Amino acid sequence: MTHGPDDSPRLPVRVARPTTFLERLPPPVSSLPRWKIGITPPDLSPWLAGNCGIPGVMHYEGRRPGPHIVCVSLIHGNEFAGATVLDRLLRRRVRPRAGRLSLVFANPEAMRQFDPCDPVRARCVDEDMNRVWFPAMLDSRQTSYELDRARILLPVILTADRLLDLHSMLWPGDPLVLSGLSPTSRAMARRVRGVDVCVADRGHRSGCRLIDHPRFSNGSAAACLLEAGQHWHEATVTRTMQAVVSLIGPCCGLPANDGVLPRREMMVTDVITARTGLFRFVMPFHSGHVVADAGTVVAHDGGDEIRTPYDRCMLVMPNLRPARGHTAVRFARVDTGTQPPAPDQ
Ligand SMILES: [Zn+2]
Repeated sequence: MTHGPDDSPRLPVRVARPTTFLERLPPPVSSLPRWKIGITPPDLSPWLAGNCGIPGVMHYEGRRPGPHIVCVSLIHGNEFAGATVLDRLLRRRVRPRAGRLSLVFANPEAMRQFDPCDPVRARCVDEDMNRVWFPAMLDSRQTSYELDRARILLPVILTADRLLDLHSMLWPGDPLVLSGLSPTSRAMARRVRGVDVCVADRGHRSGCRLIDHPRFSNGSAAACLLEAGQHWHEATVTRTMQAVVSLIGPCCGLPANDGVLPRREMMVTDVITARTGLFRFVMPFHSGHVVADAGTVVAHDGGDEIRTPYDRCMLVMPNLRPARGHTAVRFARVDTGTQPPAPDQ
């Protein structure tokens, strides 16, 4: 037994169990659910060239000084609720009175590949654009469509004072806003409307998210990532609009909206990575599900049991079909103001 961030006892997360030969055989392949496609990709043709020399970036300056606020959509091409919201705001000719505002369509090329018959595939062209933001990776000679696109967008990112990265979820779950551990980003997350939960974490071992770029993790600039609900649902568009307006409303003179503010603050303590191709949850958990008791088995990963390390453990964005090496779920507890101790499990 080890100890948790508040020094309460912690049970182990991963426990090897003896397996029989039959249990080591791959489980039968289950088909993916039929996803409901309630929205269609927006027509971004007026904005794709951009208006500031950077394709896909619409940039506006207010008359008075103020922060540079950046809203980013389409880091994942099949998550176009955010792009729908930015398109609607642009068509309404929303402009900042103070400061600067950049509305970004990060990877329209990936969205162009969206096919309602196979909606999951348009996530990227070459690689996950939310894992390419390590400065060393951006400075390297490595190339991919997403990495090159990230380099093109970098002048906007490096001047952002507050950045909101707009995403949605494949699997059902409570909407949430994610931040890194910096106090400025966590303070920003508490003011984002439309979601009930804010979650702080250290990011992913497999690569650097946009919100974890040193601009936001080390300095005074702040960044959060919105997971506004399931992809392709109109309710997700509504929540995204509430979140974006709560951020840009004051500088653009938009009326306040009645979206809820986060009531629960959670801290991720464990990131569970699938070590095998046989990672399976014991039931189809929703993101935000709270498991009452420590030691509850929530998944099997090959021969290992994955158990909750403490009472009242929240499952954050369980990926019900994780590939080997990918994040399968994060465990979070109510934030007690202490730093999370555990690296990836
Ligand atoms: Zn995403």
